[in-house]
Amino acid sequence: MEKNFQRGAYGRIDKSRALDLLKSGDILSLGEAANGARAARHGSKAYYAVNAAVTYSNICEVLCPICSFSRRAGQEGAYRLSPEDVYQRTMKFKAMGADEIHIIGGMDSKLGLDYYLDVLRAVKRAGSELNIVAYTVSECSLMSKVSGKTLEEVYGLLKSAGLGAIPGGGAEIFSDAVRRRITPDKLSAGEWLEAMRKAHHCGIRTNATMLYGHIEEPEDVVDHLFRLRDLQDETGGFKAFVPLPFRRGASRIESKASGVYDLKICALSRLVLDNFEHIRVPSTHFGDRMAQILLNFGADDVGGTHWCEEVAVAAGMERKERTEAHMRSLIAGAGFEPFRANSNYAV
Ligand code: SF4
Repeated sequence: MEKNFQRGAYGRIDKSRALDLLKSGDILSLGEAANGARAARHGSKAYYAVNAAVTYSNICEVLCPICSFSRRAGQEGAYRLSPEDVYQRTMKFKAMGADEIHIIGGMDSKLGLDYYLDVLRAVKRAGSELNIVAYTVSECSLMSKVSGKTLEEVYGLLKSAGLGAIPGGGAEIFSDAVRRRITPDKLSAGEWLEAMRKAHHCGIRTNATMLYGHIEEPEDVVDHLFRLRDLQDETGGFKAFVPLPFRRGASRIESKASGVYDLKICALSRLVLDNFEHIRVPSTHFGDRMAQILLNFGADDVGGTHWCEEVAVAAGMERKERTEAHMRSLIAGAGFEPFRANSNYAV
């Protein structure tokens, strides 16, 4: 296998080459190339954050077949936090040392725009210095719908209330045929990309995810990465790409995720997304050992302590409350130099 895939040597990787790489069994050559691309950007540095999750509600009207997390309103286990609850949780996380709060929840049209703004204000009341990464573009689009305001107006209000960045969730896989089966009632791929485009134009930095290991084909993975690369060429607004392996949990879809597939996806992402600065492999989703290996396959960020993360846990990941010392030792144990940074990569 030809080993130098990096931009500059042979130009950008095109779709057919990306597909060949994904289908190839030569994972070591792919990993070596991705590790070279990663080292050229970040040397021996690897990033982590000290952050926590506030999942304000698990009530969702969309109920995607792929989801293990959501509940119907009134169903056992359904909950919705008040802004005061969010404030109390944030105070606790701040005392534990977090400097960033991640906020997501289900799609719940009973919540008005003021609720979402009050949640942000509650976090800022607990600590004006806290970086808030909140609300996927799916949630922002719902806010726009229920409030009658444009998405740009919603973004402006969220920023004024303290929003620091938007997470990359809801992207799943862009293929319409796959989306119809795993998340039929969520934003379409085109709507997700357009909502991201608007966020970037409003000066909001975001991440981008890809959920893989369910019913997608290699062509769908390649298509997803190229659509992200195209948008990043246009706006430059993405900070990190975050591949997420699908776990079945309580959902109706089988998982075909595997360790080898994780390695390939991570390495290919690093090579295709030559305009993304960071590839993040959250240890909350991959586990510590796989995150360490992925640092050698193109990734440069193992995510955060992410205290009280609920979505991956609902899908079957073990709950593990990681300390900052644990994150540093995870990175050092993989042979890299740990750097603490928030989601905007303020080190
Ligand atoms: S993936 Fe998101 S939108 Fe779909 S059911 Fe779960 S919480 Fe709701």
